[in-house]
Amino acid sequence: MKVKLLKIAFYQLLLILCTTTAFSQTPRFKVLGLYTTTVEPDHVSFSKDAIQFFTQLAAKDNFIFDTTTRWEDLNDEKLKDYQVVMWINEFPHNQQQRSAFEKFMANGGGWLGFHVSGYNDKYTNWPWFVDFMGGAVFYNNNWPPLPAKLIVDDNKHPVTKRLPKKYTSTINEWYGWKPSPRLNKNIKVLVTLDPANYPLGKKNIIPDGDIPVVWTNTQYKMLYMNMGHGDQIFTLGIQNKMFEDAILWLGLKGK
Ligand code: ZN
Repeated sequence: MKVKLLKIAFYQLLLILCTTTAFSQTPRFKVLGLYTTTVEPDHVSFSKDAIQFFTQLAAKDNFIFDTTTRWEDLNDEKLKDYQVVMWINEFPHNQQQRSAFEKFMANGGGWLGFHVSGYNDKYTNWPWFVDFMGGAVFYNNNWPPLPAKLIVDDNKHPVTKRLPKKYTSTINEWYGWKPSPRLNKNIKVLVTLDPANYPLGKKNIIPDGDIPVVWTNTQYKMLYMNMGHGDQIFTLGIQNKMFEDAILWLGLKGK
């Protein structure tokens, strides 16, 4: 009798162990990172660092991070496998890819866009994307790339909860936008360029303005981050925590 009970207890324990292991090995979500190797060298070096950073994070936080330089992978068939799409250093190349992305977002997909991936101007001709970005159209930038003081607008949001109220970010090329996405009621700004930086730049100067650098359009599961120029972006621990919290927020939102 005793032996039998022990046996049952043993098998129960085995079952628990197996289930726990199986559970912890099931990836929590899948991310597809798209990038291009023929763009501005500083954007290529950012993509290398980003891929390394998110690959390590995927192993640590238990999600899948696939990458591709084939922007034609922005199609319904491919995207149905993924919960989050990341544009690392570019954007779709044609109408087909744009449409597939719009559909993915309308169906509740997640997007994390860095730096130039949010770039748009009067030649872009993609009104949907301008609206998605909260109306923000590229307006100006600083040059050379510089570190900048940032203000964290919301320390309670899941993406920025581990950041201090203010911090000095890594070297980046910062973009100004017109209009400021903050003016759009659907936009929640999480991080802003501190006016204490102005004038920012030497060759190209950002003289003033309300310039959000991290924001989300609450109509979508999306997050734009202006960081993404050069090889210093992932050198700051507290900011790296924001990148980690960002991908987890997008991947697990609504789960
Ligand atoms: Zn840049």
